[in-house]
Amino acid sequence: MVSSIRTIYFGRRWAIPLFDPGRKTHQVLAPIGRPCYRCKVNIVDGDFGLIRPHGLGTSVWKPIHAECKLVDDVGGVNHVTRVCRCYIRTPGYKPPAYTGTLRQEALEVWKHVQKLRANVNLDPM
Ligand SMILES: [Zn+2]
Ligand SMILES: [Zn+2]
Repeated sequence: MVSSIRTIYFGRRWAIPLFDPGRKTHQVLAPIGRPCYRCKVNIVDGDFGLIRPHGLGTSVWKPIHAECKLVDDVGGVNHVTRVCRCYIRTPGYKPPAYTGTLRQEALEVWKHVQKLRANVNLDPM
């Protein structure tokens, strides 16, 4: 029988349920020079993230930055800063267009989430 899939990660761990005590994890060398499947920016030394199945089927495993995974989980800048249509339901309202790259947006979301965590006395991720 196949054992439960464990989390494959590179770089440091961070505060997400995948790293909760008792969860199976496996650290690999950072896939430097390979692109993150979300933002397409190559992984560089010092990055941290996951290696996950991505694309058609689940046989192809690709890296994703921790910050990019966070965007997948909590939404983009407009959503976490509550200026999207989820929060502002005025008819005809247009949320501000984000003009940065996907990577820049992910880094911004990460920073914002750390602020929210600090507000409720949680350590940074
Ligand atoms: Zn990325
Ligand atoms: Zn939203």
